[in-house]
Amino acid sequence: MRVAPARACAAAPAFPVSFRSILKSEVLDRDGRVRRPVRSISPSQNDLELMRLVAILQYLVGGATLIVAALVLPDGDRSDHDAYYLLGAVALALATIRYFQKSAMTLAHARLSNFAGLVYITVVVAVSTPIGATPAFYLWPVLTAAYFLRRRDLAVVLAMFAVLCAVALWGFHPDGSEAQVFAPTVLVVFVVTALVRLMRESLAAMITDLEQSASTDDLTGLANRVAFGSVLGRDVERARRTSGALSVVVIDLDHFKQINDRLGHAAGDDALRRFADVLRLECRAADFPSRYGGEEFVVSLQDSAIDDAAQFAERVRRRVEVETAADPAPVTISVGVAELTGAHTSQDDLIADADAALYEAKAAGRNRVVCSAAGYAGG
Ligand code: GH3
Ligand code: MG
Ligand code: MG
Repeated sequence: MRVAPARACAAAPAFPVSFRSILKSEVLDRDGRVRRPVRSISPSQNDLELMRLVAILQYLVGGATLIVAALVLPDGDRSDHDAYYLLGAVALALATIRYFQKSAMTLAHARLSNFAGLVYITVVVAVSTPIGATPAFYLWPVLTAAYFLRRRDLAVVLAMFAVLCAVALWGFHPDGSEAQVFAPTVLVVFVVTALVRLMRESLAAMITDLEQSASTDDLTGLANRVAFGSVLGRDVERARRTSGALSVVVIDLDHFKQINDRLGHAAGDDALRRFADVLRLECRAADFPSRYGGEEFVVSLQDSAIDDAAQFAERVRRRVEVETAADPAPVTISVGVAELTGAHTSQDDLIADADAALYEAKAAGRNRVVCSAAGYAGG
């Protein structure tokens, strides 16, 4: 996951959350800044499999309910009982087939299965005499769609529900009370669906937010060590697969403790932020900068051999030196560079090599770039 850099904030809109924000599914932070819309929850493969399980359960419970209702419930009009047994058996059969289905669920399957659920309930409503509370079962497929599917799909499901419910009532129970059943059913289904959807979207927003903060360094907005580890793992795997080049650059701010000691911790923090900005400016889209800890930063440079990585490091070194030269706390950096080779058995090996080069740079007097393999030296 590439972590977006922190941005300077514009004027904050009013807080608490506005109705418009809720409808647009925007997440606001504590200062009322819009963080990111989560309108497009798309079901993951896990979601689709969970959706299949939910459908199996619904068919099992629904089918058993129909059969048991026909067997034991007192009923003045038993003309629908044969249909109930048949529909119950169909539901149990569908649950069994879906349980043993081997193929992975796709979004198209999920949509089709949801539509089949709506049609199934329409048949139940159509054959029921009296109609009783059977339209309430529409909540099952509609809420499943509200939880798992995208907003667009949910809108289609709601429209299909309203049409099919109308067909079941006006087409099969034309006794003059159709509107009295239709209106409250549609109202209840729409309101409950809207609530479930809002809860689902705010949950998704919270999870996105947590993922974001778990992978971001608060002070600089760069990726943190954990996020860097997983990105470097992916970069190493890609480099091995494509035989492409990959280098890492380990950067440590020189005598940083002195900045804290002389000017205070806040000035130290400012210097770290300032350095992170320089680093971001020098990185290409494929580079991945991170704050590894304290005043140490690591960058993964995809498709960069050691010479390219050293040139990058040298540009950063020079730029931070020039840009902070007139500051009360001028910053210089020492940098170690290493390129992935067949000798590295893990990503930690690669970082360890760059780290060793960094210590050489420190020992040689700081404010310089040292490569672990070749003898490149800047500064
Ligand atoms: P060297 O050139 O050998 O790297 O010397 P140094 O002073 O930079 O290294 P040292 O490891 O002795 O000190 C690192 C300092 O960085 C100590 C610590 O207080 C400071 N530091 C670490 N994290 C932060 C932070 O988030 N904010 C501030 N202000 N200081 C930090
Ligand atoms: Mg240092
Ligand atoms: Mg250090």
